[in-house]
Amino acid sequence: MSPVPTSPNTSARSAGTEVFLAFGANKGDREAFCRFALDELKNGRFSIQKVSPLYETDPVDCEEGVPPFLNGVLQGVWKGSAEELLDLCQSIERQAGRPEKHSSRQSRELDLDIILFGQEIIRSERLTVPHPRASRRAFVLVPMNDLAPGARFPGLGKTVSELLRELPDPGSIKLYSANSRI
Ligand code: AMP
Repeated sequence: MSPVPTSPNTSARSAGTEVFLAFGANKGDREAFCRFALDELKNGRFSIQKVSPLYETDPVDCEEGVPPFLNGVLQGVWKGSAEELLDLCQSIERQAGRPEKHSSRQSRELDLDIILFGQEIIRSERLTVPHPRASRRAFVLVPMNDLAPGARFPGLGKTVSELLRELPDPGSIKLYSANSRI
């Protein structure tokens, strides 16, 4: 009898998938909300391997007068589906006080985005991965470049450092805290 073929996704998931998550906050105690995100991801069985420095960035595509963000990126391993990881991220955002329905142009206690999920390309009702705007945003590419300049965006076929070099206008982004664990 011939062996039952296993999909690459199934075997990858048992070992876990390498994931990059972007996090950001621009309301209240921004550092505390970022720390909260990391703690809750760990509690939710996301295995964090590396955390970038924190950067302070001017809001992009937000309402007038919205305060600056603290942003960072983390790299880790997730043993589950991308949708399950999105569920965890959204439950952490809500625990931080962010309303379920929320305009992306307003301030938020916490924003957690899945940037890369292994080398998978996902287009579902709830998820687009690689994150559709990440490759054009300095607040994602700069901290991600600190962690993994050679990480490749599937679909685009370009690495983080290549995308960063090609960014026409990085906007205002300043190192805020070099502490790797915030
Ligand atoms: P935001 O306001 O940027 O946090 O966007 C939240 C919405 O984006 C949610 O409805 C998610 O289902 C959707 N979404 C699509 N792709 C992603 C992704 N890669 N990471 C996080 N949220 C995503």
